[in-house]
Amino acid sequence: MADFTDKPLPEINDLTRPFWTAAKEGRLVMQKCTHCDTVNFHPKPWCIECGSRDLQWTDIEPEGSVYSFTISRTVAMNFQGWQDELPVLFCLIDLDEGARMYAQVTHCNPDDIHIGMRVRAYFQPISDEAGIPIFRPS
Ligand SMILES: [Zn+2]
Repeated sequence: MADFTDKPLPEINDLTRPFWTAAKEGRLVMQKCTHCDTVNFHPKPWCIECGSRDLQWTDIEPEGSVYSFTISRTVAMNFQGWQDELPVLFCLIDLDEGARMYAQVTHCNPDDIHIGMRVRAYFQPISDEAGIPIFRPS
């Protein structure tokens, strides 16, 4: 694992595995409701809008804008991977296809980050099985 990251790894289960394995392949996938087209995030057994259980994992364009952000200058976790990157930009991203997700934004000066900033994901492998989407200004 140290070959990939010194950060905490996500707990992967049957519900979330498609998200992580797709990210390993450089794709962003989310559950899409076949009844109302709502994009679900986080993964759930039912649609967050209409309650349907007919959800299909779908490729999502990894592009959106910053909804909110925080600049962490002293991450309160003892993971070297975070310490090495301070200050870290943790953001809520509104994807163009409708979902809101948490993500880190990199390649951005903390003084330049702002609400509405256009960002696009790139993907970083974090284990043999999983990758993670990280965003940068587009
Ligand atoms: Zn629905």
